[in-house]
Amino acid sequence: MKKTTTNKELLLGAHMSVAGGLYTAFERAERVGCTAIQIFTKNSNQWNDPVISTEDIAKYREGRNKSKVQIVVSHDSYLINLCGANDKLLEKSREAFVKEIKRCDALEIRHLIFHPGAHTILGRKESLRLVADSLNYAHKATEGDDIISVIETTAGQGTTVGSSFEEIAEIISGVKDKKRVGVCIDTCHIFAAGYDIRTSNDYEKTMSDFDKIIGFEKLHAVHLNDAKKPLNSHVDRHEHIGKGEIGKGAFGFIMNDDRFSKIPKILETPKGENGYEMDIVNLRTLRELVEEASI
Ligand SMILES: [Zn+2]
Ligand SMILES: [Zn+2]
Repeated sequence: MKKTTTNKELLLGAHMSVAGGLYTAFERAERVGCTAIQIFTKNSNQWNDPVISTEDIAKYREGRNKSKVQIVVSHDSYLINLCGANDKLLEKSREAFVKEIKRCDALEIRHLIFHPGAHTILGRKESLRLVADSLNYAHKATEGDDIISVIETTAGQGTTVGSSFEEIAEIISGVKDKKRVGVCIDTCHIFAAGYDIRTSNDYEKTMSDFDKIIGFEKLHAVHLNDAKKPLNSHVDRHEHIGKGEIGKGAFGFIMNDDRFSKIPKILETPKGENGYEMDIVNLRTLRELVEEASI
């Protein structure tokens, strides 16, 4: 059967470091051959929110325009917890999230991927509502922007919310401006949360559940990570493609699934010794899976 997606058109790449300047992500992307990348627009483990200078924006644009990268998505800081029960953390998180959106806007990045957060003294249900409220707050504060807040599926480690499609749907239902909310499937996370994708039957079942409960029209990004820990472990540990508990087959299903063809597919696997050699290996494995299936 002739594939509708050719290898050249694949939106495929990896999370790229911006050490040395935002524009350097494109140099790294070039080295490993990405057509899609994910970046942090600031240090992901700090609360400081730098304003990006016009010079940095210009260099970034120049890098992007010369690059083969067709889409850049951003990932928010790990410290942000949009359902933080303590008022101080919640307020700080909301303000930081607004700044994340503003940096995306400055860089013409349309998708901001974020983890919905971890609940503390509040229950799950209340926490999901709080995440939606936080998004409503951030969207209002950035009215007129078309940046989409993309909820990442989680492994359900500890008290993190968003490990079931139902929970993600519940957050979305509380968001007022539906155009500004989307979803990112992380293969390692859904597997750790109990969604099997290893056989063709299980893959179809998981994806049809996703479609019924959330809807593929809400899918804006995919994180392609194999898993170090078994199904339903609720442990978030990424492994190289084909070397973990999920195995190569599942990635072949995704790479050849038309529902994913226009979706940026991003690796978040270990980079290896020189900071990129394993990206080359993992991207090659993924491309080969497309070729194998289209013979
Ligand atoms: Zn993430
Ligand atoms: Zn993860």
